[in-house]
Amino acid sequence: MNYVNKLPIEPKITLLGAGPGDPELLTLKGVKALQCADVVLYDALTDEALLTYAPIAAIKLYVGKRSGEHSFAQEAINKLMVDYALNYGHVVRLKGGDSFVFGRGYEELDFAASYNIPVRVIPGISSAIGVPGLQQIPVTHRGVSESFWVITGTTTSGEVSNDIYQAAHSNATVVILMGLKKLAKIVDIFSAAGKKELPVAVVQNGSSANEKLVIGSVSTILASVKEEKIEAPALLIFGEVVSLHPSFKTLIQPYVGMA
Ligand code: SAH
Repeated sequence: MNYVNKLPIEPKITLLGAGPGDPELLTLKGVKALQCADVVLYDALTDEALLTYAPIAAIKLYVGKRSGEHSFAQEAINKLMVDYALNYGHVVRLKGGDSFVFGRGYEELDFAASYNIPVRVIPGISSAIGVPGLQQIPVTHRGVSESFWVITGTTTSGEVSNDIYQAAHSNATVVILMGLKKLAKIVDIFSAAGKKELPVAVVQNGSSANEKLVIGSVSTILASVKEEKIEAPALLIFGEVVSLHPSFKTLIQPYVGMA
């Protein structure tokens, strides 16, 4: 006799941070969550290699929003996530970096909660810290930087965040996400704050094989970024800590002792 074993569906959602790009930067807890996924909804900034951790039978759906494309509105993603959870069970919502750092993770958590679907959060390595770290640029360093800001370059209204004006006047390390297109404006803000010589690094595709790095100062970075044809996704690091980067040290070493 054939038994069709239909277990009742237990809807649940895991908000999973995939890390900055390199698939090996996913946490072990993240791997385990993927292994028991019924559905994986994944974003543009996640590596598709991670999908191989999910069962072959699991549904894998790309719901990315690459800039310039409007493939999936946030509302549509929220609904899909809930629909899949109700119909299939365990949905893993795989997002670039950490879900709660400019990841709209809380909106998804909130939407799922309004349907009484349990949500678990598994943090990921945010590009904001991980990408500078991979370049050996510490976001804080004793005697150099006591704090760091992580700011969006582009707010909901499309403007440069007001926080950048304040951060430019501080001694903090300033990491700016989604800021490449606003670099000229951001450079103006730092220049106006008297920071023309402040070291700056721009990293494109951090942690992946096609990573690109440009290093300079507030006064030189714009020209270098254009010359090197840096594209999104890229993050900007403003701060004295950038001078700890090995290549930056090589640049300034010949001048040591000449004062
Ligand atoms: N939740 C993500 C950030 C999403 S916002 C996180 O925690 O990392 C998307 C922006 O993050 C990009 O426009 C870019 O500024 C930055 N970013 C994400 N991954 C990156 C990477 N591998 N290299 C450089 N910048 C990255």
